[in-house]
Amino acid sequence: MTTQAKGAPAAQAPKLRLNADWHDVLVNVPPHILVTVGALVDTHRAELATEFYRVMLADPEATGYLSHNEVQTRLHASIQRWMHTLFGGKHDDPDGMAALQRQVGEVHARAEIPVQLVARGMRLLKTRLVELLVGSALSREELVVAVEYVGSLMDLALAEMSAAYVRSHEQGARIDETFRMVTAGQNAALERHKQLGALTEWENTVLRGLTTGLHMPAVASLRSSAFGLWVQHKAPLLFDESSELERIAQQIEHLDGTLLPLIISRHQSQPFGLAQGDGSTALRDFLADLEETRFLVNSLFDRLSDMEVGRDVLTQLYNRRFLPTIMRRELGLARRQQNHFAVLMIDVDHFKRVNDDHGHETGDRVLQHIAALMMAHGRASDFFFRYGGEEFLAVVNEVDHKHAVQIAEKLRARVEQAEFQVNESTPLRVTISVGVAMHTGHPDYRHIINRADEALYEAKRSGRNRVCVAPDTTG
Ligand code: GH3
Ligand code: MG
Ligand code: MG
Repeated sequence: MTTQAKGAPAAQAPKLRLNADWHDVLVNVPPHILVTVGALVDTHRAELATEFYRVMLADPEATGYLSHNEVQTRLHASIQRWMHTLFGGKHDDPDGMAALQRQVGEVHARAEIPVQLVARGMRLLKTRLVELLVGSALSREELVVAVEYVGSLMDLALAEMSAAYVRSHEQGARIDETFRMVTAGQNAALERHKQLGALTEWENTVLRGLTTGLHMPAVASLRSSAFGLWVQHKAPLLFDESSELERIAQQIEHLDGTLLPLIISRHQSQPFGLAQGDGSTALRDFLADLEETRFLVNSLFDRLSDMEVGRDVLTQLYNRRFLPTIMRRELGLARRQQNHFAVLMIDVDHFKRVNDDHGHETGDRVLQHIAALMMAHGRASDFFFRYGGEEFLAVVNEVDHKHAVQIAEKLRARVEQAEFQVNESTPLRVTISVGVAMHTGHPDYRHIINRADEALYEAKRSGRNRVCVAPDTTG
């Protein structure tokens, strides 16, 4: 079977079906055609890549995501590898091929490369490949099969990429929103207060209706109240899929669907006797359900103290989970405003010894001190993250190469000079190693992080307590 491009709907195709399609496409093509197409792609992939980027770099929408430098140093080779894997690679492993396309889609998502741009690139490659096939020695019948095979495979690849892109983006959006809440100072305590207030307000409206004899059916459902809307739209961003949230949604349904109609009908049949008999039971259940909902909201927020949402508990630096948000933002700014930023990867030297000689708690205190030093001496626009145990990552923006190294060097010197007063009479001294990488225009933020990490490794290897800089171009 074939999957013809019909615009965007491919993005919604379910994963299992896609894997089956990979298999279908591959088993239905005679082996000699697979071999011929594979060989043709391999022979021409360098010129295909050149043509691909020639067109892309001339496209105003695409140029924001590509620099000539990036194309030359990396992308030209990576698209060739991709073509080789798709057409010349492991045809016995459709799952692996699908997984590879998903990885590509995730890279595109991190780089925020629009799906339509990728689709345009794929169409371009497909057209060129078909032209090459037409010019090949294939018979007319074979040509039909080969063209269909190439088209189907590229459509499938795009569908996998797009589906992965959408999934990554949804996840990213959730973290972005949490981050926005945290940094906007709209902290969790305030949000809790607001939502409990909204719930109480709805409860009061209902009770007021009962006691003043207002027309009860006029009371809006809890689901459509401010609280209900928050539960549906905002709470999932904050709490992911927690069981409490699910329970709250059930409570709302029960209140709206069962208890509210029940007290309304009781009220109508015995307007002044609600506090007795059946009416009293219904009201009690109603209030008990609301109380439980309040309890659930509180326990959700209890687990989500301010610190845990945005900041690492020990050091109060940004939590690593916000790194993608910040990196994507910095990449976007760098793209639009042509400014430069750097990533500093920082690791405490021989930290294991600190723990071994002075105990883990002292180790913790030292980490807190180092974090405080970074916060105190960083600029307001810099971001400091706790990256791992005794590893930190800084994103310093609007700096050139020289300035970034100065910042790293200053930080290294400050830690070296600092005397950490922890419990004992003699102050402790530690040093750090730093790897610096400048943004080169590469659209995937993992790239700069990896380069900073390699530079850090170099700093460790060449003796520690030093700053090393990643080369600006890596293959
Ligand atoms: P190097 O100079 O090569 O980085 O040596 P190192 O000893 O710092 O590196 P290694 O990775 O061998 O050990 C890191 C140690 O950091 C091990 C771990 O126990 C400690 N560590 C990680 N997280 C924490 C933490 O939160 N608190 C404390 N006290 N120690 C931690
Ligand atoms: Mg380490
Ligand atoms: Mg270390």
